[in-house]
Formats: sequence, C-alpha cells, structure tokens
Amino acid sequence: QAKLQKGGYQFFNESILSTFLRKLDLENELRWAIARNQLTLHYQPQVNALTGVLEGMEALLRWNHPTLGSVPPAEFIPIAEETGVIMEIDKWVLKEVCAQLNRWLTASLTVPSIAVNLSARQFLAPDLATSIRDIVIETCCDPQQIVIEITESSSMHDMESVLHILREIKSFGFQIAIDDFGKGYSALGYMKLFPIDILKIDKSFVQELTSDSKSLVITKAIIDMSHGMKLRVIAEGVETMEQMECLQTMKCDLVQGYVIDRPMSCEQLEARYLREVCS
Ligand code: C2E
Ligand code: CA
Ligand code: CA
Ligand code: CA
Repeated sequence: QAKLQKGGYQFFNESILSTFLRKLDLENELRWAIARNQLTLHYQPQVNALTGVLEGMEALLRWNHPTLGSVPPAEFIPIAEETGVIMEIDKWVLKEVCAQLNRWLTASLTVPSIAVNLSARQFLAPDLATSIRDIVIETCCDPQQIVIEITESSSMHDMESVLHILREIKSFGFQIAIDDFGKGYSALGYMKLFPIDILKIDKSFVQELTSDSKSLVITKAIIDMSHGMKLRVIAEGVETMEQMECLQTMKCDLVQGYVIDRPMSCEQLEARYLREVCS
C-alpha cells in the first residue's frame, strides 16, 4: 500500500515536472520561431453549402520545431498569449497572408477572402486597428479581401474599447467574423453590439447536430437569427455528410470541415481550388 502510494506520488511529480519543463521549452523556443522560419500557414477551404464552390479560406498556423516536432496551435497559442509573443506572431500571419494573396493574384488566379485569427489579447492594444491596416497597405492588398476572426475571451472585458477597435477595423474595409459562436457567455450581446459580417457556429454544436436535438434547435436559431441580421453563417468542424445535409436544410451559407477538406499547404489549396481569372 505504502509502496503504491509512493509510486503514485513519484509519477505525479514527474508528470507535473515534465509538463512544466515542456512549457518552459515551448516558451523559450517560441521566441525564435519566426526568425528561424519554423512557422508556416495552412489554409482550410470554406465552401458554399449548396454548390460546394470555394468562397473563402481560413489561415491556420503550424509550428514545426526541429526537436520538439510539430506543436499544435492549441498548445502553443495559449503560451504565446501568456508571454505576449502572440502580438508578433499574429502580425507575421497577416503579412504572410497578404504576401500569399499577392502571389496568387499575380498568377491571375481568382482568390476569395482569406480569414486570419486575431487573439483576443490583441484587443488590449489601442493601436491594433491601425497596425493591421498598415501591414495590409504596405503589401498593397485590399482589406476587403481579409476577414478578421475574433473569439470572445475574458481579456475582452473592456467592451467600450473592444467596440471602438472593431469599428475602426471595419472602417478600414476589413470584414469581421465572430469565431466559435455559442461557446462563450455573452454571445448574443456581441451579435447586437459588434459590427460583424460573418458568424461561425462553434464545432461543438455542429458535431452534435445529428445526435442531440438541442444542438439542432440552437444551430437553426443561430442561422435564422444571423440571416435576419444580414450576416453570413459558416458552420465549422463539419465532419459527416449527415451534418452537411442537415446544414443545407437549415440554409447555412458556408461550411468548413474535414468533410470538405483538412487545412492544407498553399500549393495544395492552389492546385485543388484556385482557377485562373476568366478574361
Ligand atoms: P479555430 O480558429 O476555431 O480554428 C479551427 C480549428 O478546427 C483548426 O484547428 C482546424 O484545423 C480545426 N478543424 C477544421 N475542420 C475540422 C473538423 O472537421 N473537425 C475538427 N475536429 N476540427 C476541425 P487548429 O489548426 O489546430 O487551430 C486551433 C486553434 O488555434 C484555432 O481554432 C485558433 O483559435 C488557434 N489558431 C490557429 N492559428 C492561429 C493564428 O494564426 N493566430 C491565432 N491567434 N490563433 C490561431
Ligand atoms: Ca478561427
Ligand atoms: Ca473556431
Ligand atoms: Ca478559437
């Protein structure tokens, strides 16, 4: 009995220690990730729910470290937010997206809007709107082609200043999407207050569409409500044909998820989805 307990403790300590060490590692290494070219972007298609035509895509970060391997965003984004490195990372993402947009447009390809994720922590920076505008202007891209995805978070407690920043972002021509809609607490308040164009239904609802009647009712209500407010709705995390058919019946505008495609490299996205501009 005593032995077991001791072993249990040892295991407990070791696992806490290794979690701690891993986090330290990630923290240190993350500071170098941009300079050492370890970050890349993958793009996931967003297609029309009825026609399957590409109408947008989301840029998603990938971090490939030579010894730590490929670290998932769910693990390193929270650390980047804690340490503040996220500011630099999100700016890098926007620059990279604009550069990619330019490469595609130069090749005479028809490119829909590209969505980037902005960490809620950024909304503590009063110059957020102008700094993202400057990045886009420097690269000669059209802000209309960029969608800024934001997620509700506790760091958004100062609603007045968040609202001010969002209005500025909107006035520069960017589109605004609310990410993970339904997962947070004050979602409806956001919908009423924020100048948004697109609403993304959180995957937790989408994935229970065919198994939980409450998720179905909520999803239907979100879609109808959004359409009443002239917003476009994207269902994310669509994995099965059953979910897809359900969303079509409910007149969801766009779908994003494994049933269509996983996030992929820019080369793959170009080959599978982009066509030359007809002249
Ligand atoms: P998110 O913004 O909600 O992004 C959608 C996540 O769902 C992505 O995970 C995507 O790969 C995944 N996904 C797409 N289709 C499906 C599906 O059919 N089923 C399931 N189960 N998952 C699906 P990923 O790429 O691991 O990113 C995780 C989160 O990390 C993102 O969630 C976002 O919050 C954050 N993130 C990713 N890239 C960036 C970035 O550039 N900046 C910031 N600030 N955050 C980012
Ligand atoms: Ca997102
Ligand atoms: Ca999401
Ligand atoms: Ca998210």
